[in-house]
Formats: sequence, C-alpha cells, structure tokens
Amino acid sequence: MYVHVPFCVSKCAYCGFYSLPGATGQVSAFLARLGSEVRQRLTPDLAARVGTVFIGGGNPTSLGPADFGTLLQTLTDVLGGSPIGEWTIETNPETWSRDLLPLVRGLPGLRLSLGLQRLRDEEIAWLGRAGTAAQGRQAVEAALEATPNVGIDLILGVPELPSPARDLGTFVAALPVRHVSAYFLSLEEDTPYAAWVEAGRRADPDAAGPEDLFEVAEALAAAGFEHYEISNFARPGSRCRHNLGYWHQQDYLGLGPAAVGTFEMVRRANPGSLAGWLAGEPPATEELTGATRQREFLMLRLRLLQEGLDLEEFTRRFGPPSPALTAALSREVAAGRLIRDGSRYRLSAAGLPLANQVIAGLF
Ligand code: SF4
Repeated sequence: MYVHVPFCVSKCAYCGFYSLPGATGQVSAFLARLGSEVRQRLTPDLAARVGTVFIGGGNPTSLGPADFGTLLQTLTDVLGGSPIGEWTIETNPETWSRDLLPLVRGLPGLRLSLGLQRLRDEEIAWLGRAGTAAQGRQAVEAALEATPNVGIDLILGVPELPSPARDLGTFVAALPVRHVSAYFLSLEEDTPYAAWVEAGRRADPDAAGPEDLFEVAEALAAAGFEHYEISNFARPGSRCRHNLGYWHQQDYLGLGPAAVGTFEMVRRANPGSLAGWLAGEPPATEELTGATRQREFLMLRLRLLQEGLDLEEFTRRFGPPSPALTAALSREVAAGRLIRDGSRYRLSAAGLPLANQVIAGLF
C-alpha cells in the first residue's frame, strides 16, 4: 500500500512530484479525507493482504509530529491485523527530529528513507534545495536511533557537479545506512530548474553521461552494498520489499492525492490535485491488457540486475515469447549488452548505461 502525502516545507527547484509547499492550512482536511479513503477502500479482506506500507510524498514528516502521529494512527487502526512486514517512511532532513521517534519505533520492519540528494552544502544549494549537508548527517544519526534500516536518496547526473561518489565511501563508513537510491536528475516542465536551463544558468541534465552511476556503484560495492536495481543499492538483506513488489508487478493500492495503484488488472490514479481529491472527484482507471503487462514485465525485470528477466516465468504468465522477442534478446546477448544464464537474461555492465535502449529494442 502506498500513501501519498502532498506537503513539503519548500519546493525544490527541480521537483516534478505533486507536492505543495507551505500548505499547512490544508493538513486537517487532508487527514480527514485520507481517513475516509482508508476506511472505505481497505475492506477487512483487503487489509488482511497488505504486506508493506510506503508513506511517500512530498515529505510526509513535514506534517509535524502531531499530525504525522494522526496519520500513522489512521493507518494502524485499519491495518491492525495485517501481516505487515515492512513500513517505509520517506522524510527530509529538515523535518526529521527525535520527537518522531516514539511514533515510529514500534512499526514492524521500519525503514526510514532520507532525501539527502547531495552530501555537500554547495551542491544542495546548486540544485535549488533547502537544507545543509550537516542537517543530513544529523538526520541520519537521529533516524538510526529509530531503526537500523535507514536509507538515503541521491541525485546524479548534474553536469556542473562531480559525482557524489567521492564522499560516499566516507559517509557510509561513518553512518551505517543500509540502502542508497541514486536517480539521475531529469528536467521537469514548469519548474524553476527548467527555466534556469532555458536561460543558460544551468546545463541540461539530459546531456549528462552514465559515469556518476558507475562511480557510485564502485564506491558502494567497496562498502559491501549490492547493486540490485539500476538505481538502488542495499546491504545484504536490506532491499526494499515494497519497491520489489512494484518491479515484480504485485498488486498495490495507492491512497491520497495523485497516488496510483494497480489491482486485479486495473490501474487506478487518484485525482492529481489535492483540491480534486478532497472534493471526491473520481479516479482515472485503465483496464490493463495482457500486452501492457507483458511490456511492463520486460521493462521492470531487466531493471533487477541480479534477477533479470526469466523467459520461463514469462512463458508461464504470457505464453511463449514471440520470435521477434527471442531474436531481440539473442541480438542483445551477441552485442554484449545482455548476459544469458539459462532462461534468464540480465543487463551486462556494458548494457547498464544503455538500459533504456536495450529495453525499447525488445518491444
Ligand atoms: S522534498 Fe521532494 S517532493 Fe518535496 S519539493 Fe523537494 S523534491 Fe519535491
């Protein structure tokens, strides 16, 4: 189950997520509506099947301890009997405080995911983001008091900035985080960052090469992390179960404004604005076809670097692969971009930076 909290303290210059800075006046209405949505959609049968909860945003802890506590209470009231093995909470350094510890400590399988994005002050500022590197380190220390399962998010591919890899080895040696997500900066329409690029004040991040990812992978491998998904690294036993569920195409519910879920071959997107969701506008729904699920299978499984794409599983789910698909897979193996191991195909080191091209070539 995914819960979207659409509030942030301030808006980062590059952000394309649905998040509202400084909208504290709307928090009570959000919590009340979320309570109704949770109670209405999570029937006892469904609640009994929820295995992971991911509270994302926005920045969920921008609600502050009292309202964040209400949010957790709303969820745990309905999920009391669920076999939940993992709770993930996204948070940002400026809003993570020790006041939150008593609220989260008892959650089973608690993971805290901190949006640090960069490890030096000047790089955080270059991105048009609030906060400092010291705040990030302090927040990680405070998070480690709640759970050993702490992760950080980083942004790669900023043409003017060196890779964060140069600080990462020291960082993870000093602070024993167990998970790192590292995504490339992408240019989102109608953001200040896009305007800066347009005005020549920032270089277009689309021009960045894959080097940052290789350097981060090398630094984290030296520290004992496994590179298990194109953009995700974990110490052994600390992969994100919730996100593995997405990559394995498991059903999930999306609650809150702009949240998307997939359940029994129907993709459901809640209204994209807080106002629309509060007003009870209906969700957009799409019946997924077998062909769509097949494409998603190919795309998502190749993202999993050790597991890869298993043609036997593909056949069990969708029937025998088409001659075009088997020919495309063989072509990629011959070109050295995929590695074949029995019925499994995995991206090679050479294929990793070309993953989008490799995947597109399979359709
Ligand atoms: S903290 Fe995250 S969601 Fe909020 S504005 Fe920044 S990038 Fe967007």
